Amino acid sequence: MRGQNPLESQVVESLSDPQNQGHPLHETLSQLWEAHHSLLNRIERIARVSDGYQSIVRDREMTLSARFDKQLRQLEKVARISDRYQTMLRDLNIALKEASTHDALTGIANRRLLTERLREETERAKRYSRPLCVVMVDIDRFKAINDDYGHEVGDNVLMEVVRVMEAEIREHDLCGRWGGEEFLLLMPETSTESAVRVIERLREAVANLRVRVNDDSLSVTVSLGMAQLRADENYSSAINRADVALLRAKRNGRDRYELAD
Ligand code: GH3
Ligand code: MG
Ligand code: MG
Repeated sequence: MRGQNPLESQVVESLSDPQNQGHPLHETLSQLWEAHHSLLNRIERIARVSDGYQSIVRDREMTLSARFDKQLRQLEKVARISDRYQTMLRDLNIALKEASTHDALTGIANRRLLTERLREETERAKRYSRPLCVVMVDIDRFKAINDDYGHEVGDNVLMEVVRVMEAEIREHDLCGRWGGEEFLLLMPETSTESAVRVIERLREAVANLRVRVNDDSLSVTVSLGMAQLRADENYSSAINRADVALLRAKRNGRDRYELAD
């Protein structure tokens, strides 16, 4: 309960003093005193209600800020997941691109990528009048390797031959798998003479390769047909001529190269 100030104490004293009982203002002061009290009570009540209201507002503000924090944390989580998802998507895209342009067994360019590069290199060679050589490479009597040793050994031979070829070609050359046991070499900025040196070295390196099979080892050879792009032909025509040269290499005894007409 509130303490009384000096004026209030004075009023209480005056009202209770028996000498003042008959005073004409006693009744008025008494009523004023009651009115004063009821006013004080009302003010106190209003203050209490206001305090309660303020604490409700404070609580609500706190819950609002807690809710906001929670939503922020959820948003951050979603952002992190989205980031991870995007990274995954990017990696997947890279893997997809790699898979669609490279051979699954040997890892080198597949026919699609070869064709793309053929188109680009043909255009460049023609625009700047630069030499471009294409070489078809085919493993000799490969069917016999599969028949004698099994498909798995055959696959192994394919991978080993690719490894050797990749080691022999130069930085700007491209070696890809054209199909089965056939490969295409793309040699931009290369004259027939330079290309011949590379493919002869490559042929020899493959012939010297020994692929281990259990306690044994087997050797393998390749035949090659090469054509230099003519100014008046497209790449398909050059590849056809390289193919014809390859057939000639097969007919002439394999393990050799032939040049297109
Ligand atoms: P040639 O000297 O005339 O080229 O004879 P070849 O036996 O190499 O030619 P042929 O075209 O008769 O046989 C090619 C063989 O290559 C047949 C096929 O089963 C095999 N081959 C193609 N792709 C693969 C492969 O990915 N793995 C394995 N193990 N063999 C393959
Ligand atoms: Mg073959
Ligand atoms: Mg073949």
